[in-house]
Amino acid sequence: MLPLELPTLQNWSCHNCGGCCKQHAIEVTREEFERIVKQGWRGQPGFEVGQPIFVWSSGPVWNRRYRLANREDGACVFLDDKGLCRIHSKFGEDAKPLACRIYPYALHPAGKSVTVSLRFSCPSVVANKGRRLVDSQRDLREIERLLVPDDADQTPPPALTSRETLNWKETRLFVAALDEAFATPQGTFLVRLMRALFWVNLVGQSTFDKIRGDRIPEYLDIITSAAEPEVPADLTTLREPSRVGRMNFRLLAGQYARKDTAVEARAGWGGRWRLLKAAIRLSRGRGKVPALQPIFREVPFSQLEQSFGGLPVGAEELFTRYFRVKIQGMHFFGPAYYDVPFVEGFQSLALIVPSILWIARWIAASADRQALTLEDLQQAVTIADHHHGYSPLWGEYSFRSRVRTLARLGDIERLIAWYSR
Ligand code: SF4
Repeated sequence: MLPLELPTLQNWSCHNCGGCCKQHAIEVTREEFERIVKQGWRGQPGFEVGQPIFVWSSGPVWNRRYRLANREDGACVFLDDKGLCRIHSKFGEDAKPLACRIYPYALHPAGKSVTVSLRFSCPSVVANKGRRLVDSQRDLREIERLLVPDDADQTPPPALTSRETLNWKETRLFVAALDEAFATPQGTFLVRLMRALFWVNLVGQSTFDKIRGDRIPEYLDIITSAAEPEVPADLTTLREPSRVGRMNFRLLAGQYARKDTAVEARAGWGGRWRLLKAAIRLSRGRGKVPALQPIFREVPFSQLEQSFGGLPVGAEELFTRYFRVKIQGMHFFGPAYYDVPFVEGFQSLALIVPSILWIARWIAASADRQALTLEDLQQAVTIADHHHGYSPLWGEYSFRSRVRTLARLGDIERLIAWYSR
């Protein structure tokens, strides 16, 4: 097996909140299907007559793929009243489907090693609660054994830009420079993010036929140094986002604010019609923001555009850790993120910041507050990260073209400044 690269800042242990078992559709392989059937759940408490264990998720009749069924409230059929997994309680960790054993980890082959990242849809990850990842090496090695193919070291490097792909060693230099941009103590997280955006945009405009190998560190040195004087220390001096940018952003942030669970999927055409009406309201941006899930109240769009008095204490640590975990884990481009190149992947990752802040503002406004708390921000991170890199919509043309439009207009930086004030 290849060596694992663990994120340097993150802790995690499962605290049995059961959240993941209520949010995710768990697809099972043929082998897992048969194993669970053999476990003999029919007729056991919690598996009343008429309660399916599996539902058909995709594939033709002759090659059906199944996922675990959900109860009325969206919880997995195996989640018990105490928030514990029945399979785990009765047969142990190994008896669960692989998808359950992996969460919230994300492992990605990266040349001669495998990077480890985490999903921040898990509240324990967001709160950095639990043991150090280095103490979970044994579990991670087991996940690697089950998940990572034998020929993982043959995985080709992901593209750097829409035109160019370098080798693994060169690509990793860009990833390391990005991590360094957030490791430095100079400037606030937002200033570091703006600087990183500045030089990553320059990478997108460069060609690399002459800048290869040993010349890349020198190139990175020049563009990262050039970024420093370009970003003002006071971000309120940046122009407001453009009208087109705001409309694209509302649609994008609205997608992040959605809850796509098994319960929503069951809503069928009625649910799709509701989403279409919500998208029309989001594109207009007048009146009230449609409550996209139960935690939100309908509040005026204009209320979310007011100042919320800056970021709460703890935001620096949370955002820095979030970015460094995603960067070190290479969880924002390539196969980990819809095969998009490094530059576009980072622009997309940067856009999650105003999206999180917009959602956090909405949570606060729903509780009649005009200032953010760290809890608002933490909840917004779990909502937004649920989709990032996992919902198929993020890889579709409409979402990707929205990211590219906002980057081209120079609105990503303005949105970050606007919603952080
Ligand atoms: S099988 Fe167990 S761990 Fe997996 S989603 Fe269901 S309750 Fe959760």
